[in-house]
Amino acid sequence: MVVTSWQFAIVEEIRFETYRVKTVVLRLPKWAQHIAGQYYDVRLTAPDGYQAQRSYSVGSAPSKIGLIEFTIELIPDGEISSYFFEVLKVGDKLEVRGPLGGPFTWSKSVSGPLLLIGGGTGIVPLMSIFRDKVESSPQLQIALLYSIRSEQDIIFADELKLLNLLDANSKIHLTFTRIKPVLWEGDSKRIDLEMICGYLDFFQNTPNTYICGSSNFVSSISQLVIESNIPREMVRTERFYGN
Ligand SMILES: Cc1cc2nc3c(=O)[nH]c(=O)nc-3n(C[C@H](O)[C@H](O)[C@H](O)COP(=O)(O)OP(=O)(O)OC[C@H]3O[C@@H](n4cnc5c(N)ncnc54)[C@H](O)[C@@H]3O)c2cc1C
Repeated sequence: MVVTSWQFAIVEEIRFETYRVKTVVLRLPKWAQHIAGQYYDVRLTAPDGYQAQRSYSVGSAPSKIGLIEFTIELIPDGEISSYFFEVLKVGDKLEVRGPLGGPFTWSKSVSGPLLLIGGGTGIVPLMSIFRDKVESSPQLQIALLYSIRSEQDIIFADELKLLNLLDANSKIHLTFTRIKPVLWEGDSKRIDLEMICGYLDFFQNTPNTYICGSSNFVSSISQLVIESNIPREMVRTERFYGN
């Protein structure tokens, strides 16, 4: 079922992921199962009728019946993200429309292993894909390459640690672009061709590749992925902001 009309969701829970990223759990009266990777539109309406609208990816797995989770970064002076941080509370209503989005999706019917590459909050739809794969296709190989500024910016940190330990078919790799953690021996640079090629050895077959983040991030990573000989038709991208 596709629900594309607006509806009011109820905020069931709000939790901090980092000092400037929150997850908001919403209960939907007209819930439709999303496909991992999809997003919703959110619309705010002021008392004078002024409206503002933004899109937010669903981070939760499609198996969460009746619920969706958004994970939102506070953007300084951001119109809608600051509402999520400063105004919205448990029990409030939030107007949403979805699930939306087609090409940037994964379900177990898509054959072949998965390479997910995310920058910052770009991890959100990738996490929905990761969670769905763990539940629906435990044997499938998956690798997540996640670029963040510093240790404080790791979203879903505990869950990623757990997945790395418990899922033998997964590989999670972090790279820090600004401040590396004390005693960190892994990468502390922007994702480069060597890093991507290093990952291709892990896979038995060429992976379906999903890239999400800012527009600049997606452009530069897509270029590297193509250079690593992953065919263009196996690459899907989602751009959160920027030209
Ligand atoms: C399909 C899709 C899915 C998305 N999913 C998510 C998600 O899961 N989580 C999430 O946090 N965001 C997500 N976004 C981005 C989101 O829609 C908003 O753009 C973001 O929350 C900023 O909105 P705002 O109203 O707070 O800022 P605005 O008032 O729109 O912008 C304020 C200023 O910040 C700049 N800016 C806007 N976004 C960013 C940014 N991300 N980083 C730095 N500067 C920025 C603008 O250029 C502007 O100068 C998604 C976008 C798309 C298109």
